[in-house]
Amino acid sequence: MYHPLSTMPTVVVVGAGVAGLCAALQAARSGAKCVLVEKNGICGGTLSAAGIACPGLFFGWEGRQVIGGIGWELVSDTLKTCNTPVPDFTGFTAENFWRFQVEVEPFVFTALCERKLREAGVELHYHTMLAAVSRLKGGWKITLCGKDGLYDRSAEILIDCTGDANAVHQAGFPLSVPRECQPGTYSGFCSGYDPDKVDYVALKEAYLKAEARGEILPADLGWGSGFSPLFLLRRGTNANHVNGINGCDSEGRTRMEVAGRESLLRVYRFLKRNPGFERLRMDCAMECGVRESRTIIGEERVTAEEYRSGKVWPETIAQALYPMDLHDATQGIIKVDLPRGVVPTVPRGALIPAGSSGLIAAGRIIASDRLANAALRIQAVCMATGQAAGALAALSAERHCEPKDLPYAVLREELLAHRVILPENGEMASPAGGREECRA
Ligand SMILES: Cc1cc2nc3c(=O)[nH]c(=O)nc-3n(C[C@H](O)[C@H](O)[C@H](O)COP(=O)(O)OP(=O)(O)OC[C@H]3O[C@@H](n4cnc5c(N)ncnc54)[C@H](O)[C@@H]3O)c2cc1C
Repeated sequence: MYHPLSTMPTVVVVGAGVAGLCAALQAARSGAKCVLVEKNGICGGTLSAAGIACPGLFFGWEGRQVIGGIGWELVSDTLKTCNTPVPDFTGFTAENFWRFQVEVEPFVFTALCERKLREAGVELHYHTMLAAVSRLKGGWKITLCGKDGLYDRSAEILIDCTGDANAVHQAGFPLSVPRECQPGTYSGFCSGYDPDKVDYVALKEAYLKAEARGEILPADLGWGSGFSPLFLLRRGTNANHVNGINGCDSEGRTRMEVAGRESLLRVYRFLKRNPGFERLRMDCAMECGVRESRTIIGEERVTAEEYRSGKVWPETIAQALYPMDLHDATQGIIKVDLPRGVVPTVPRGALIPAGSSGLIAAGRIIASDRLANAALRIQAVCMATGQAAGALAALSAERHCEPKDLPYAVLREELLAHRVILPENGEMASPAGGREECRA
């Protein structure tokens, strides 16, 4: 089945995590015909499938909002539906930043997203995996694998929101792959015990004996630190480490899921034979959460120094706000705070694979060094880069120009019109973005 290019520019977004959702919604709202492809039967990616449902950070210093747009719309609509008041965002500091993330009900979030996708006219393909990407004149042929086999879609612009740069890889562009990735985390959902009544001293003793016998491992019950009350206090959510695996492809992802469930099984067996856990119940997330796999090599790349200094890029497309928070299997958490008042920014070039045509990336795969990526991977920023990618794709496709050549002023105006928050004093390379002419 082959669908020729329609009169309306088509944008295909691969991956319906938080970045892909915002990219697809914005592309459709900016006038493109948009196809959103997702391998799972639910959108949200890490937020839903891996059970990490606390997007951050939308508000920061002096309670000021730094990320708005579709990301905040999705989060605030979820809160509204749940009758949950918007948290008080005053009192933000470099130390208490984590309290300013917003917990959302994943099911409500995903159901609302599906409704918004429908209202925007996005064509949603669940249970569909990207199979191949090949260049067409003026666009892409994108081969998808659905339940009944392979089929094609064509698009002027392809947006990679897979979290692992699978589309960019299939399009033949090089990627940056860390020697060792940050650990993943397999979230459990535990009940049937009271964390306030646990005898943590006795449990630690039992843990040390079990660890000496090899029945439980140091990364099972905490972030690599051996015994920690973290797992029990968080009821298993975001409380362990799955080390030494890059989950960028099916092989790595398979090893991660298996290793993650083995880890949870060790914890279950250990706890179940200790007093207070007789009625323990443990479920697990659909998937292991992946902190890091690989990033694109972009037209521009955000470094840790640029992030920490709050550099305002000439073509800023999003703001960010999170300390650099790198989980390391041996060194623990490496955290680099932002100086008070600093709001880092993201340039358009970090979303564009170097030397590419008709290709954009968003979410945690944007071009950045490892330490900067340890902050840019946060959900609110992924939402913001997703939204920027959607606008950039729709406007470039409409004007038949490359995403890097769309006049910045045009992109900026579209983003501001859709409630994206950009630095007021953002210098522009030139008022029209320095590139008046769009290349075909
Ligand atoms: C353990 C852990 C804790 C975290 N804690 C926080 C936190 O407290 N606050 C916070 O804001 N952020 C946190 N993060 C970071 C954040 O959750 C992720 O970096 C972010 O959600 C990534 O979003 P994304 O859309 O780029 O990618 P993903 O969430 O990975 O979404 C990618 C989507 O693409 C789909 N996909 C992938 N490959 C294909 C393919 N080939 N074909 C079709 N579909 C495909 C996937 O199924 C998925 O739905 C945490 C991450 C982890 C792992």
